[in-house]
Amino acid sequence: MRMKVAFIGTGYVGLVTGTCMAEMGHEVICVDIDAKKIAGLKKGILPIYEPGLDVLVKKYYKQGTLAFTTSICDAVQSSEVVFSAVGTPEHKATGAADLQYVREVARQFGQHLNGYKVFVNKSTVPVGTGEEVRQIIATESGREYEFDVVSNPEFLREGSAVKDFLEPDRIAIGVENERARKVMEEVYEPLTSRGYPLFVTNIKSAEIIKYASNSFLATKISFINDIANICELVGADVKDVARGMGLDNRIGPKFLRAGVGYGGACFPKDVKALLTTSKDLKRPLRILEAVEAVNEDQKTIPFKVLKKHFKSLKGKTIAVWGLAFKPETDDVREAPSFVLLRSLAKAGAKIRAYDPVAIPNTKAYLGKLPVTYTKDAMLAVKGADAVVLLTEWKEFQSVDWGQVKRAMKGDFVFDGRNILPHAEIESLGLIYKGIGTR
Ligand code: NAD
Repeated sequence: MRMKVAFIGTGYVGLVTGTCMAEMGHEVICVDIDAKKIAGLKKGILPIYEPGLDVLVKKYYKQGTLAFTTSICDAVQSSEVVFSAVGTPEHKATGAADLQYVREVARQFGQHLNGYKVFVNKSTVPVGTGEEVRQIIATESGREYEFDVVSNPEFLREGSAVKDFLEPDRIAIGVENERARKVMEEVYEPLTSRGYPLFVTNIKSAEIIKYASNSFLATKISFINDIANICELVGADVKDVARGMGLDNRIGPKFLRAGVGYGGACFPKDVKALLTTSKDLKRPLRILEAVEAVNEDQKTIPFKVLKKHFKSLKGKTIAVWGLAFKPETDDVREAPSFVLLRSLAKAGAKIRAYDPVAIPNTKAYLGKLPVTYTKDAMLAVKGADAVVLLTEWKEFQSVDWGQVKRAMKGDFVFDGRNILPHAEIESLGLIYKGIGTR
């Protein structure tokens, strides 16, 4: 049954999930306080790069089942279910999730409530937020109308977000009563009727499921990176080690790829937020503390490797391939590339950087850093002493290494994701260096 659904916060999660809800047959209204973003969306200009999203946004906007507005009042009052998908960034001083946007949305929802509605926390929020939000709404609404609060954390991945949302491993919801449960079952019926599982629990458990899942994935990454560093010392190959481990069904091959560390809008801040919760509870999460420490070290490896190879990087030209924290996204938040770019600039290196889509966002974050951004991968390596791969974009896997060699001045190739054809590179007389491998 078609439902009227609102998304407050039309960022990565709000825009993707809102659009996908239109694809599921609902009538969706997406709100944002960023008037420029909303004006752009109305003209078909998307604020993010996400495969497959633009087609759906344009289709449902044209059909009239996906609307964009800056009026939270209109969105709340015309909807039965209101998803809050605003950011919960890291609070710089404490490492906790900054809940100011969530609280503001709850206040506004309470003020505009005009009948029974369900307020859904789609944002990643620390355990206890559902209860806090319920109290804010009750106070702001003057308890005139009934409402329910639900937790529905989102597990989509940037780069495959549309598919992840429409074909989820599971949909997790936390509810406190049958009425809210029924509403959420109706919202997700287009997916559950196709066999995708809806996992229902209480609000606090749902809130923790999200943090525990992201923290576990981050743990797998830091674990294999730690093992990679051992492999390096003893002459083993972490790619084979990971493959050999991943063939065990109990372990699985995913998230077991050694590299230059995790980044992005989620893992770093979610790990930090869970660590802060554990500290507040005076029950340290020691494994997670190590996960974070390993990741911080891992991000410094590309610079250390270059420094070891060149001794001084002053005046050296370094080509950097890949700026986004992972492929198929233009998101550069907490990207390992920033650690390298800043260190290279400080060391006086000349930086030539290329990424298929993330250059505008990198410029926005690192504006003043002296980096020459190039239009393609080959231009970046022109005259370079070394080339460093940081993001495993597919196009880097099919470059012509003969051409790279001719374009470079030097001969050093650092593969921060272990995806380049090292035998071919070495056969051309270039020096290949990976992570936890030769
Ligand atoms: P984002 O920064 O891309 O988007 C947040 C949006 O909310 C912005 O457009 C902002 O302008 C808007 N906003 C802020 N205050 C508002 C208000 N009062 N009213 C209306 N709009 C408002 O953030 P995101 O990456 O979409 O993340 C949102 C949440 O989802 C976070 O909690 C995040 O941890 C979680 N999450 C993100 C991902 C991901 O891959 N990005 C995946 C799963 C979960």
